Parts: sequence; C-alpha cells; structure tokens
Amino acid sequence: MPRDKIISGDSGGVEDESYNMSLRPRTLDECIGMGDLLEKLRISITAACQRDEPMEHVLLHGPPGLGKTTVAYVIANEMGSTIKTTSGPALTRPSDLIGILTNLEHRDVLFIDEIHRLPPAVEEYIYPAMEDYKVDFIVDSGMHSRTINLQLKPFTLIGATTRAGLLSPPLRTRFGITHNVGFWDESELLARCRMTVGMLKVDFDEDALKLLADRARGTPRIANRLVRRCRDFTQVRSDGRLTIDAVENALALEGIDPLGLDELDRRFLRTIIDIYKGGPVGIEAVAATLGEETDTLVDVVEPYLLQVGMLARTRRGRLATGKAFEHLGFAAPRRDESLFDDNSAD
Ligand code: ADP
Repeated sequence: MPRDKIISGDSGGVEDESYNMSLRPRTLDECIGMGDLLEKLRISITAACQRDEPMEHVLLHGPPGLGKTTVAYVIANEMGSTIKTTSGPALTRPSDLIGILTNLEHRDVLFIDEIHRLPPAVEEYIYPAMEDYKVDFIVDSGMHSRTINLQLKPFTLIGATTRAGLLSPPLRTRFGITHNVGFWDESELLARCRMTVGMLKVDFDEDALKLLADRARGTPRIANRLVRRCRDFTQVRSDGRLTIDAVENALALEGIDPLGLDELDRRFLRTIIDIYKGGPVGIEAVAATLGEETDTLVDVVEPYLLQVGMLARTRRGRLATGKAFEHLGFAAPRRDESLFDDNSAD
C-alpha cells in the first residue's frame, strides 16, 4: 500500500478526490480496460522490481476522468513505493520543483498532473532530473554566482495531460512509456458501474446498470458520479434499489439526455447552431458567448462531442454536424460539405 502524499493540486477538488480515491482500484488486477497499457505496465514494473530500479517515466494523455491519476496510484502501489502528487500550475518556481525532487526516496513516484502547464523555467530543471537524476542550479549572481549539483534518488515521473500537443518535444521524448487514455466502451463502463455499486453496497437491477453505463459519456468518473446520484435518488424516493424507472428519473433530474450529454454539452452545441448558424466558429467566440473558459470547453466538452460525431474541428473553426442538429431538434442544415474537408487537430 503506498503512503499517499498529496503535495498540492489535483483536478478533482477535495471532496471529489476523497470519493474518487475510495472508488479507485489499487492493483493492476483490479483495473478495468486501458487497452494494452496494463500489460505494458505489468512487464515494466516486474522488470524494474527485479533490478531494484525505478520504472521508466510514463506520460498519460487523454480527456479528464478516464484513469490517468488512477494509473499513477496503481503503479506506485505495485512498486511498493510512495507517490507524491503535484500539478504543472502549482510549480510556479524552479525551487518548488527542486524541493519536491530532493525529497524523493529511491523508486518513489512523482505524479505531475496538467504537465503541459509547467512554466518553461521550471521545465528546464526536469530534463536532467529525468535523464540523470540530478539537478544543477545557480545560486547568487554576477561574479559570486556558482552552480550547485544535486544528485537525486532514482525515481519515476508520471506526467498526465489533457493536451499532449502542448508538450514541448524535449519533454515528450524523455518519457519511456507514452499512452493515450481513450474513452471507455460500454462493456468497460458496465464493469465500472458493477464495481461501484459493489463498493457502495447498492442493490440494483441489471437493466438499470446497463442504462447507467450507456449514459456515462464514455467516462468512468461520470459513471461513478451517476451511480452516486442514483443511489441518493432511490434512497430518498423509493427503497434504495436501482431500478430502470428510478435510474431514468434520476438521470432526467440530472439533465442527462439519452445520448449521455449534459446541460453544458447541449448549451455548447445549441450556441454553435443557434447563434453561429452551425459554424464554422472560433472556440473563443463560443466560450465568450457561453461565459465559460476556453480550456474547459476544449478539455472537457469537445473531446466527447468529437468522438460521437456531433462536432467537427476545422481550420476555420468548430462545426456542429447534422447529427447534432438532429439530436437537438433543429432542421438539418443546408451547407457546403467542403467545409468539413479541412479537418485540423489544433
Ligand atoms: P483522470 O486522472 O484521467 O482525470 P481518474 O484517474 O481520476 O481520471 O479516474 C476517474 C475515476 O475513474 C477514478 O476515481 C476511478 O474510480 C475510475 N477509474 C479510472 N481508471 C480505472 C480503471 N482502470 N479501473 C477501474 N476504475 C477506474
């Protein structure tokens, strides 16, 4: 069991994090899905343990809520080591990072969430730390300046990011294992819902659980949240058992529609369709109209809408697809299909 130590920052917020921690698998065997990542990790961890070395540095990228933090905790647990977690924006000065690095013990895991937001001045210190387990820093200035070389204990850096494209090439290439954590399929989400009702000791009907998995927007964190919301609902409104009727009513109250879209997803699409005639429109304009942060829309809202084909991202801006028009009850748009030709992944 790792001695979990949270230094600062985590995307979930304090209460969310404690709930998430309690629902997180702790070993590779308990983990669901993740494609071939778990097998790769199993081999790397076993090999590293046999050599009494730290595991290779790991970069995990993908939308929020799909399992990046969980994997970091599982790696630390399987290595029998301590995990220390921080985030890119929390490391404002080189000394913040150096303080953490010099406190790492042999084979510890350092998890940096939102690693694409590391300030460049801090990032520079990460390179030699990752490669040679050392940091060189300059104290004083002018003729009194001198370089201090610090040897670090061998450790594993696990970086998580929602925007792999924003990572500088020198940083990206220093990770030995890079994995894209994608949206979960229905059977994986069903397995997650089953795990969650088991952990929370909730009675359920099989078809109710399938409905929850179906509405979870491909995201295990949302599956967990929906199970908790439905548990509250049935506890207060009926006998506490998740039945299909109860789940349907609870999801309607949460504003989750038949495709799993929530209120923000629908407001986003409706804005593009209604105000910008379906697009193309720049993401900043949509964000300003909605009064939301551009980053929230890019990281949280867009990936799933792109995945289910409701949104297209082109050089000229965002386009709502015919599927989005239909889903929100708008008449199909008449427009030039060449608009969709210049897809870009900006
Ligand atoms: P991220 O760091 O990508 O935002 P998390 O690691 O916090 O996502 O995952 C969100 C939740 O999904 C976790 O609290 C956990 O309950 C569940 N989860 C993630 N990965 C797995 C997995 N491989 N197996 C089972 N549950 C998982």
